[in-house]
Amino acid sequence: MPESMLRCSLCGGTDFIRRPILWPELVAAWGLTAEEAGYIDEQQGCACTACGANLRTIALGNALRQAVGAATVLRSFLATPSAQRLRVLDVNGAAGLSEVLSVLPHYRRADYPEVDLHDLPFADGSFDLVVHSDTIEHVAVPVRALEECRRVLAPGGRLCFTVPIIVGRMTRNRSGLPKSWHGNPEVTGDDFLVQTEYGADAWTHVLRAGFTDVTLTQLHYPAALAMTAWVAPDPLPA
Ligand SMILES: [Zn+2]
Repeated sequence: MPESMLRCSLCGGTDFIRRPILWPELVAAWGLTAEEAGYIDEQQGCACTACGANLRTIALGNALRQAVGAATVLRSFLATPSAQRLRVLDVNGAAGLSEVLSVLPHYRRADYPEVDLHDLPFADGSFDLVVHSDTIEHVAVPVRALEECRRVLAPGGRLCFTVPIIVGRMTRNRSGLPKSWHGNPEVTGDDFLVQTEYGADAWTHVLRAGFTDVTLTQLHYPAALAMTAWVAPDPLPA
């Protein structure tokens, strides 16, 4: 996408900075081609100078805008009275997005690994929106984490999330492979250990977790994609 056409879905910003994110050891462990490394760098390292959201978070913002029917940028929508009732679970947070969402009166934040995503400490049907960004590739059983997201969603609720997807391959579990981290392992320890490398079949985890519907939202293919999942109401009421 030409940068002149890019607009931040969170704040409306039109000025972006780019900085490289990947490092050679991660590129090697992940087995990325130069093209793949290029679009992952774009996804993670191109960011709105006004609010700090990077491309994946801006894609996620657009998925959220669709989920809640926002015609404006997310920050403007969330200031409206109709948005105030939204119950939002923000898992781990995302730069730019958490600041925008946290103005809501029914905003909750849950951070991995303090909160076990395989066993969320919330009652069934507690939220209208569940949001996470580049998180479930780090948990042991991502389908279980997605099942938990489904459980805590109220009827009609939406899960919006991102994972880093390499579109030219299939998802693989890294068990049995040398350890690979996103982030500095000396600082973050195994919290950022990568357990699953997502590929073009990432959506299958969503359906395996019991969601009936999943959509992909692109900001910039294949650098910036977000997924939205929900459970459709029973189309055949008794
Ligand atoms: Zn922004």
